[in-house]
Amino acid sequence: MDLTDFSAGAQYIAGRQIRGTGEEPFQVVNPADGTVVQQVTLASTADVDAAVAAARAALPEWAGATPGARSEALLRLSAVLAGAADDLARVETSQTGKPIKLSTEFDVPGTVDNTAFFAGAARNLEGKAAGEYSGDHTSYVRREAIGVVGSVSPWNYPLQMAAWKILPAIAAGNTIVLKPAELTPLTSLMFARACTEAGIPDGVVNVVTGAGRGAGEHLVSHPGVAMVSFTGSTPVGRRVAELASATAKRTHLELGGKAPFVVFDDADLDAAIHGAVAGSLINSGQDCTAATRAYIQRPLYEAFVAGVAELFESVRLGDPLNPRTDLGPLVSFTHRDRVAGFVERARGYGAVIAAGGHAPAKGHDGTDLTRGAYWRPTLITGVAQDSEVVQGEIFGPVLVALPFDSDEEGLRLANDTPYGLAASAWTRDIHRSLRATREIAAGCVWVNDHIPIISEMPHGGYKSSGYGKDMSQYSLDEYTQVKHVMYDTTAVARKDWHRTVFGDR
Ligand code: NAD
Repeated sequence: MDLTDFSAGAQYIAGRQIRGTGEEPFQVVNPADGTVVQQVTLASTADVDAAVAAARAALPEWAGATPGARSEALLRLSAVLAGAADDLARVETSQTGKPIKLSTEFDVPGTVDNTAFFAGAARNLEGKAAGEYSGDHTSYVRREAIGVVGSVSPWNYPLQMAAWKILPAIAAGNTIVLKPAELTPLTSLMFARACTEAGIPDGVVNVVTGAGRGAGEHLVSHPGVAMVSFTGSTPVGRRVAELASATAKRTHLELGGKAPFVVFDDADLDAAIHGAVAGSLINSGQDCTAATRAYIQRPLYEAFVAGVAELFESVRLGDPLNPRTDLGPLVSFTHRDRVAGFVERARGYGAVIAAGGHAPAKGHDGTDLTRGAYWRPTLITGVAQDSEVVQGEIFGPVLVALPFDSDEEGLRLANDTPYGLAASAWTRDIHRSLRATREIAAGCVWVNDHIPIISEMPHGGYKSSGYGKDMSQYSLDEYTQVKHVMYDTTAVARKDWHRTVFGDR
């Protein structure tokens, strides 16, 4: 099966790729040069209804399959995805603009590994031990699928986000309708087709390509959907939770971030500089865990700023399909202009632009970058803690660096935004690192690194970064519900406790 053939349409419903019946045609654009990658027809609300109906029809058989059978299917899926690695990487790069080396070495192998992990996890769904807790009954716990999951995902890591949403849901026996971001639907469609290729029954995994306000709102409000799992921005997450609450659906929200990067004065400065460049520029900074606020203890501050600025200038912008390109464009021209707006406004309120701060003209490979949505790595200093670039999610290759004096101050500043997704602390002192990991309010705190993720460990936020965990065994808790089953063991008609309701002992 050629996973890259989108000619039949951009909806994947009941095991078939079909055309949406929404009225407006939509173009998936390559942000590296503005060319059209794929023209699609978006989903109408009727298409969403059809996808939910397909997921409901597939539910009894899939939820009733043995964990071993679901695990086998996921293992086959992992092999299909691995076999399509080159196509997945190329399509991911063409729809997002991310460098091919990132797609090839991070997005695709991460997805394959995640699939293999959930194949194993599907067989490890445990409940509590059974027992006679009242003396007169045997109790046990069943962990059951929830039903149809309606999932909405963002454009920054389309393939990985599809995997993070689909895999734990189906490993636990649910069926799913995923609505990827309309800008980047192609690798989610490829993932769904790969599911069919792997023998996962029709209707277990459905993808509707549509707009947030149309298909997205219809999906998360749908009475046939039992749970909503969302990854995206905090304002849209709030709206999704509001819509889902009308029918009391379970919600799982992975929202925005504004990760601090705290460098104490005993840190390995060179490691911190390299870590800040990689941690802030990964995926052009369009990563919810990217380093965005570097707080540097005063003795290291000047050297850190100079070191990061120098490395930022050496980063190779260019054609994302060139394997030597470090940094591609942002996902769209609109988003690039939004990032530029943050930087322009910061200039207006007196920021120092220590590196970048503009769109580039030519790439390292001679590419004309003015045709794409490029932005140079930008280092900002000299702003206040309450300024927009420190508090707001820019989601671009922009790092702010600010000095601090005492450890208390550094940790206080790290916690001083509404977000709490990820953070890092840089120190060689065990006590400082223990304090930082304890006091920073975030779902993940790295020590002497920033970014790595692994399938076995949970990913998810504190505070306005949402709740619920992706990846790891913890995510299976999200996609299952717990049932207490209680058996009478006395076989007595007139039970002792009845007297609390009628009669005497
Ligand atoms: P977004 O919130 O604009 O859109 C996310 C998804 O929601 C898209 O599919 C969009 O079509 C849909 N949507 C928009 N309005 C909707 C509505 N009213 N009802 C239902 N669905 C709607 O986010 P984005 O710009 O695609 O992605 C960037 C954001 O995602 C950033 O804030 C980033 O931090 C966040 N993100 C978070 C994580 C995490 O794990 N916490 C991971 C990746 C991205």
